[in-house]
Amino acid sequence: ESVIVAIDGPSGTGKSSTSKAVAAELGLSYLDTGAQYRAITWWMISNGIDVDDPAAIASASGKPVIESGTDPAAPTITVDGLDASGPIRTQEVTSKVSAVSAVPEVRARITELQRTIASAAAKVAKGIVVEGRDIGTTVLPGADLKIFLTASPEARAARRSGELKGKEATDLAATREALVKRDAADAGRKTSPLAKADDAVEVDTTELTLSQVIECVVALVEE
Ligand code: C5P
Repeated sequence: ESVIVAIDGPSGTGKSSTSKAVAAELGLSYLDTGAQYRAITWWMISNGIDVDDPAAIASASGKPVIESGTDPAAPTITVDGLDASGPIRTQEVTSKVSAVSAVPEVRARITELQRTIASAAAKVAKGIVVEGRDIGTTVLPGADLKIFLTASPEARAARRSGELKGKEATDLAATREALVKRDAADAGRKTSPLAKADDAVEVDTTELTLSQVIECVVALVEE
């Protein structure tokens, strides 16, 4: 009996840390779908594609080969065989990923990849935790459990700042502004926007520690 868990929500809600820990604790695979959108964005930038030109992005969207390693203890992401784990976290990629991931051809391609990875994990392993923005609504609407994580904008900006290094971390106001802007773009796009599925369990993490959130999700999986 394998299990598929979808964890969606905006950034700064503890989504990645929670998803990885839940997968590790339950012996499941783990897929970070944001990393895939970041990877295709990095490839577009590196190949001189104008990210403000949806037609150019659409026609190049089939070119990069994106591969995700799904061990929650050591997740990996490569583009055309190159390790992309560092470059996908730069501010440049972060500021452009919403525009690239709003292009329907990009979403179709990445969604297909995600479904292939999830069904493989359900067949050969105990299952998978898939984290993103549209997993419960669009990618895996038949998931066994859907979680939607939320938190106040203040809490999310503070957590995101804590993850950034040096100068960026000290500028809480700018971090909050960039985060709110990215959420609005993700929630406002036409193709599979960031949204809570009707049958998702909403968990507000504002007042919870990471271990409390993990405990809560593990309990829901085991129910
Ligand atoms: O989760 P993370 O912040 O790394 O996601 C980066 C971006 O990728 C999001 O802001 C969003 O634009 C896009 N994304 C998406 N659909 C997903 C996961 C991420 O559009 N399922």
